[in-house]
Amino acid sequence: MKSTRINKGLVLALIAVLLVVVGFSVAAGGAAETERVVLATGGTGGVYYPLGGAMANIWSNEIENLSASSESTGASVENVNLVNYQESQFGLVQNDIAYYAFNGVEMFDDDEPMSSMRGVFTMYPETIQIIARAGADVQTIDDIAGKRVAVGAPGSGTEVNARQILQAHGVTYDDIREDFLSFAEAADALRDGNVDVAFVTAGLPTASVIDLATTTNVNLVSIESAMVDSIIDQWPYYAEVAIPGGTYPGQDSDVQAVAVMAMMIVHESLDEELVYNVTKATLENTSVLGDTHDRGREVTAETALDGMSIELHPGAQRYYEEVGLY
Ligand code: GLU
Repeated sequence: MKSTRINKGLVLALIAVLLVVVGFSVAAGGAAETERVVLATGGTGGVYYPLGGAMANIWSNEIENLSASSESTGASVENVNLVNYQESQFGLVQNDIAYYAFNGVEMFDDDEPMSSMRGVFTMYPETIQIIARAGADVQTIDDIAGKRVAVGAPGSGTEVNARQILQAHGVTYDDIREDFLSFAEAADALRDGNVDVAFVTAGLPTASVIDLATTTNVNLVSIESAMVDSIIDQWPYYAEVAIPGGTYPGQDSDVQAVAVMAMMIVHESLDEELVYNVTKATLENTSVLGDTHDRGREVTAETALDGMSIELHPGAQRYYEEVGLY
């Protein structure tokens, strides 16, 4: 009887000691706990998504106690909201959309300016591509009136670009049948004959456009020079570019277009050290980005402030100062 009681006591004491030991190790582990961050990207058929995935991997590998993941979203307009309201720590966005949101202008003029966003680095040009189904007989933007048009995903920057470029040509949503589709959905709909034209704002070449042009007869619609000038006059974040012949199957000659810049944003309150580490890790491991997508080769420290349309985060600024670029 007695020995049983002693054993019970011993067992209880051992359990107590174990609990304390486990408790301490959990607490000790907690001190160096892994921080989790999320990078908001875009649709799976675009360029943000694969490049964002590659960046999250770089950060997780290069930065101690950091676990980064990327998530698919509607892209720029959704991402400025996600970052400004601190639902995502990082976001990939177009520099024109960042500017409009930060200053509360254009389609954000009814909202509070999203002045808590900060820039980290700009990346590569995103070309506004206007793709028409060959059978739809759309040679110029004026021909788009009366057509079924995939204008971009809900919450995308693409949709804003589609609206502005149509508007510059005197075409409004009253004149078309607009469909809010991701790049992948738009490619399917165009292939199936359910839409006539699709707008895609993304780095060249864009995966969903390659897929589409491989299986379907399409033509890229160019913007006339005088229109390019007037678009840039009205919205200065556009720049004139060409979609070089051969970018897509069946596209032999250059196509005149406009482009904006892709960039990374964070919230102003994000830890300075974290933003410094992320800036450094990304800009010092860009070969991984180049292996992921051609446009990844254009991400460099030297060009990271080109087209920066909002205030810089102090953590990013510290990195540029350190390497003599600020
Ligand atoms: N720039 C596009 C947008 O915000 C997304 C581009 C991409 O997914 O690569 O609508």
